[in-house]
Amino acid sequence: MASIFTKIIQGEIPCHKVAEDDRFLSFLDINPLAKGHTLVIPKKEVDYIFDLEDTLLTDLVLFAKKISKGIEKVVSCERIGMTVIGLEVPHVHIHLIPINSINDMNFSNPKVAMTKEELATLADSIASKLD
Ligand code: AMP
Repeated sequence: MASIFTKIIQGEIPCHKVAEDDRFLSFLDINPLAKGHTLVIPKKEVDYIFDLEDTLLTDLVLFAKKISKGIEKVVSCERIGMTVIGLEVPHVHIHLIPINSINDMNFSNPKVAMTKEELATLADSIASKLD
């Protein structure tokens, strides 16, 4: 199903891109729970993560692993939390969130206000640290 993420993949609306290859795209969440909150998506239009074929699911997680290593180099945190919700946007996405405690994964928490310029700088910074 086409969604706002399809428009991002196709470049019809902008994102703060962290990484991209032929199958996957990673960009900063526009409404972050923490500085460095990043989304990782497959380019294939699939709503539910457990409907992905095995290879795509495995490679999506490996792509997320690569991104998490970059986030860790830029954002001070205990570790990167990973979660999948998908109730808002019907296109598979992994949330990568810098955390210091379990409460940092609570999506009911207030979001972090960041300007477009701050998001752009942060995305570039994470991108520059990827292996
Ligand atoms: P969920 O589908 O519940 O996992 O939540 C969707 C996530 O996508 C939320 O954290 C939103 O802030 C994020 N989001 C929605 N639209 C955009 C966008 N245009 N760019 C970046 N992140 C977005």
